[in-house]
Amino acid sequence: MLIILTMVCAGCAKNDAADKTAATSGGEVKIEVLDIGQGDASLIYTKDEIVMIDTGDIDERDRLVKLLKERDIKTIDKLIITHPHADHIGGAYAVFKNFKVKEVYDNGDTTTTKTYQTYLKNIKQQNIAYHQLKAGDSVDFGGGVSFKVFSPTEKMLQSDDDLNNNSLVGQLRYNDFTMLFTGDSEREAEQNMTKSYGNELQSDVLKSPHHGSRTSSSDSYLKAVKAKDVIISLAADNEYGHPHKQTLDRYKKYDMNVYRTDKDGTVTILTDGSDNYTIQKEK
Ligand SMILES: [Zn+2]
Repeated sequence: MLIILTMVCAGCAKNDAADKTAATSGGEVKIEVLDIGQGDASLIYTKDEIVMIDTGDIDERDRLVKLLKERDIKTIDKLIITHPHADHIGGAYAVFKNFKVKEVYDNGDTTTTKTYQTYLKNIKQQNIAYHQLKAGDSVDFGGGVSFKVFSPTEKMLQSDDDLNNNSLVGQLRYNDFTMLFTGDSEREAEQNMTKSYGNELQSDVLKSPHHGSRTSSSDSYLKAVKAKDVIISLAADNEYGHPHKQTLDRYKKYDMNVYRTDKDGTVTILTDGSDNYTIQKEK
């Protein structure tokens, strides 16, 4: 009897594994960290939606429009702005002008720049649904993909006027696959998250915070995130010296595979929601 049970169960385990793949009814999810110079812009394609995180800088906005049109994108279901600095919000104007954006999410931080004011004006004029996110919130990207927000906290938004540090940080979750989007969050935010979320931060892929700046990607944070792969979005020979050597050394220390848009072009991740995912370089 025992033997029969064991045999039956061995069969079950096998079937369970197969069912798990089949249960990934959302099929394949694609994530592109676009080669958009010194800035950030990523696209997420789920079965149901196209989500964009950040829009690159002002001087790259024509290129951004070109890249989106090449991909035959007409509607962006959700646009998430991590923080209102030009290298993340700069392409928003062109995106609103050329594509239908259904919903916009940001952290509610404001600045006095014309770029930011235009962004707000466009949202109002086009009557786009607008939401503010903070730590603990979750957004549904459709097709079984969700986005859990880890930072900033309400307290940070009230007390910290550092726009970088208040960047929205969130984890894309698709069954067993996870990727952490970080904006330009800094060490302080990383410490907060490590304290509040610990192992929950663990992600397969990390979008390098703040273009590989030494002021982010702190040791304890990398230890908690435990990413196998990291993608840095930046321009070659940028004026900030990104990525900083100290950051690359830390990535090396944790055995992470480093991808960078200045050398690799657009970096594409394909996942079916299992542990196995692939990363492709454009160049
Ligand atoms: Zn930035």
